[in-house]
Amino acid sequence: MTQNSELKTNKPIPYGRQNITEDDIAAVVETLQSDYLTQGPKVAEFENAFAKYVGAKYAVAVSNGTAALHLCTMALGVNEESRVITTPITFVASANCVRYCGGTVEFADIDLNTALLSVEKVRELIESKPKGYYSGIIPVDFAGNPVNLEEFRKLADAHGLWIIEDAAHSPGGYFIDSKGQKQLCGNGQFADLAIFSFHPVKHIATGEGGMVTTNDEALYKKLLLYRTHGITRDPELLEENHGGWYMEMQELGYNYRIPDMLCALGISQLQRADAGMARRRGIAKVYDKAFAEVAGIETLQTTPAALHDDETGHAYHLYVIKVQDRKGLYDFLRGHNIFAQVHYIPAHTMPYYRNLGYQKGDFPAAEQYYSECLSLPMYPTLTHEEQEFVIEKVKEFVQK
Ligand SMILES: *Cc1c(COP(=O)(O)O)cnc(C)c1O
Repeated sequence: MTQNSELKTNKPIPYGRQNITEDDIAAVVETLQSDYLTQGPKVAEFENAFAKYVGAKYAVAVSNGTAALHLCTMALGVNEESRVITTPITFVASANCVRYCGGTVEFADIDLNTALLSVEKVRELIESKPKGYYSGIIPVDFAGNPVNLEEFRKLADAHGLWIIEDAAHSPGGYFIDSKGQKQLCGNGQFADLAIFSFHPVKHIATGEGGMVTTNDEALYKKLLLYRTHGITRDPELLEENHGGWYMEMQELGYNYRIPDMLCALGISQLQRADAGMARRRGIAKVYDKAFAEVAGIETLQTTPAALHDDETGHAYHLYVIKVQDRKGLYDFLRGHNIFAQVHYIPAHTMPYYRNLGYQKGDFPAAEQYYSECLSLPMYPTLTHEEQEFVIEKVKEFVQK
C-alpha cells in the first residue's frame, strides 16, 4: 500500500481498531490451557499491572466499562434521591450508570473549544441550587483529552460532591496540576473513582472488559463485593461462620467478572501501551500539521498539559475535526472506504433522555459541536500511507 490510488480499492480504514500480536494470542492460549478460565490468578495480575500503569492504589477488573460505571454508582450509594452531573458529549453509559441506581442525570454543557464538560457550567448549576442538591459529578476525558480534575475537585469539595472520572478514552493520558505535577488519568488523586473500557476501539483491547481504579480502600472493598453478587468469604466481614465452605451474600450485587483469558490479553496489551500511545500522539501531530492552515477545518483545543511545547498529555483515543458540511464529508470519506465516525450524538437528545424531560436546545454548545464533529482514523496500526490518504481526501472535500 504505497500509492493512494491503490488504497481506494483496499480494505476499509476504520476510525479505530485493535492491535493483536502473536504475543497476545500466546498469552490467551496459555491461559486457556491453565487451571483457571475465570476467578484465577490473571485477574489480580492484570489489576496490579493496570493500577501501576495509571498510578492508582487499587484496581478492580470487570466485564466491561459500563459495568465499571455501575459498580461506581453503587459503591457511592447513588439512589432515587441522587442528582448527578455529567456531559452530554459522551457515550451514553456515562449517564446511564446513574439511572441504573434510580438517580437523576443532570447534564451540563461543554466548553466548545475542548468539547469537555465545562467546569464553569457545572459551577453555575451547583450554585443555582441549595447545598446538598447534587451528589456527584462524572467528568469524561473526552477523546483522550484529560479534564482538569483539580478544578473539578475544588468545586466538588466546596459542595460535598464525589467524582467519578470516566477515563475510558484516556489510559496513559495526564494533565499538569497547579503545582506542575503530571496527574495521570485514573490515578485517584482527585477523583474518588475512575473507570476504563477495553472495548476493541479503546487503547487496550480485550474484546469486552473494564476497570475501576481508586485510592479509597473502603470504596475498593465495595467494588469487590458488588462485582460478585454481593457475596463475601472474607472472615473479617462475615456475620457468622459455619466452616470452610461458608460465605454470605450481604448486598445485592451482580456478576460483573472478567475471565482470565481476557485478563491475560489485557496484561499482554498493557506491555505495549506506551508504544501505542507514542504512535497515537505521532498520528495526531501529523493531522495537526496537515490541517493547521486549512480554512474550513477546526480542531479541538487540548487541556493545557504540556510541560514543554513538544509534549502532550492527550491520550488521543479520537482525533476530532470540526467542519461545516460534516455529513457531506462523512459520506465523501465513506465513498473512499474511510469510515470516520461521529462522537457523540448528545446524550440529552436521545429519545430515552428526552422522555425524561430533556429537549433539543438545552445545551447549545454540545449541539453545535455535534453538528460539526467528525472523528478521523486514529489507531496505532494506521499506516503512514493510510493517514496521508485520509488527509488528502479530507482536504480534497473541504477545499473543493
Ligand atoms: C466505551 C465507553 C464506555 C463504556 O465501555 P464499555 O466497555 O463499552 O461498556 C463508557 N464511557 C465512555 C466515554 C466510553 O467511550
